[in-house]
Amino acid sequence: MMEKSYSERFQIFDENYPRILEEIAKAAEKAGRKPEEITLLAATKTVPLEVINHAIDQGLSCLGENRVQELLEKYDGLHKEHCDIQFIGQLQTNKVKYLLGKVSCIQSVGSVKLAKEISRLCLKENTSMKVLIEVNIGREESKGGVMPEALLETVDEIRQLPGIQIAGLMAIPPICENKAELCGYFSAMRQSYVDIAAKKIDNVRMDCLSMGMSSDFPEAIACGATMVRVGSSLFGKRDYPQH
Ligand SMILES: *Cc1c(COP(=O)(O)O)cnc(C)c1O
Repeated sequence: MMEKSYSERFQIFDENYPRILEEIAKAAEKAGRKPEEITLLAATKTVPLEVINHAIDQGLSCLGENRVQELLEKYDGLHKEHCDIQFIGQLQTNKVKYLLGKVSCIQSVGSVKLAKEISRLCLKENTSMKVLIEVNIGREESKGGVMPEALLETVDEIRQLPGIQIAGLMAIPPICENKAELCGYFSAMRQSYVDIAAKKIDNVRMDCLSMGMSSDFPEAIACGATMVRVGSSLFGKRDYPQH
């Protein structure tokens, strides 16, 4: 496949961005919510730096990268002063050190082991990190995240680690046959989010419920998402297959 030129990619983004913002606003209003309650995070894996910066210049204010290596390659050139950068991919413990001071949040903390390493390095570097606890809401073997039945206990363990602030939950539900099944997963996430918030646990905030991607963000908003992570619907189909 021929690689698209930057100007083609800019144009794709310019067409998609207002449409996605409008779809987010519509989904919010339909659910009786305010559009401002929902943050659009652009999933920028495989998207070239120039295109991401164009997006930021058009007003994009939050992005998420999946791979540490790719984030580091782009990091210095990013128009960071206008955009919040988060990490949304699977993370190996030996790569945590590269993220400290670079991302505002690690959304994909699915184990106490990973959280402990984040905590250890934060202490060492005299810094802190916001995290979302990733929930394996479909209990899929292929996916990371905490099993739903272990969520409370895991939150309780992670919140006690110094240097870490739990800021919410994140999930990637399984591929579903229909919207009802999908909404079942999203609603279960929302319920956990509300239940944990109601407990008012020390050092646990439920500020962010990150769920919904290109194919299902309106449903996620209907079910209570406060952040949607959208990639291909903003930037076009990715050129390279990504694990
Ligand atoms: C790629 C990715 C997305 C966005 O996926 P699209 O289907 O392209 O919108 C969202 N979340 C995570 C964790 C991703 O890796």
